[in-house]
Amino acid sequence: MLNIVIFGAPGAGKGTQSDFLIAEHELYHISTGDLLRDHIKRQTELGITAKGFIDQGQLIPDELMVSILADVIKTQDQAKGFIFDGFPRTIAQAEALHALLSEHGTQVHCVVGLEVPEDQLTERLLLRGKSSGRSDDNEETIKRRLDVYHKQTQPLKAYYTERGLYHAIDGTGTVEQIAKRIHESITKQ
Ligand code: AMP
Repeated sequence: MLNIVIFGAPGAGKGTQSDFLIAEHELYHISTGDLLRDHIKRQTELGITAKGFIDQGQLIPDELMVSILADVIKTQDQAKGFIFDGFPRTIAQAEALHALLSEHGTQVHCVVGLEVPEDQLTERLLLRGKSSGRSDDNEETIKRRLDVYHKQTQPLKAYYTERGLYHAIDGTGTVEQIAKRIHESITKQ
């Protein structure tokens, strides 16, 4: 199995670069944001709860997020590997992910960290907001999401660096240039 975490701030390009990695390594894509948006669209109980947090730019509580993820991993245990996109977002989630994968006899093999300057992130998110229809791609919520990222998610960079798993990738330039950097960094390891 090959399990990759694609990591970065909102707007860093995690979803776009996941597509390249999935094609190359035949991984099962778990985007927690997409999963939650699907629940919102179907107006499930989880979707209604999640919408309150998402519209405020806040994170869904760890316990809820981890139980959703555990279900996906359990139902996809035939997968060749996973790409975790948008998860983990807190140290508690990273520890839960480690425990979950251990139960399945596997682990996180590498963390691809897309690094993009703050002004470019805001620019990209505002541009995406014009066509994404996402309720959280507006100026006020973007500010909050970036703040939440710095406080709650960025500490994971040190967490995974200490474990020798973090691959820092320059997330600026064209989509193809970034994909090439990721490819070289992963195959070099
Ligand atoms: P994303 O599409 O990854 O940018 O996620 C959109 C929103 O979904 C986030 O701003 C959070 O409110 C929520 N979300 C997605 N993944 C997680 C997670 N791992 N933990 C908590 N909240 C999450």
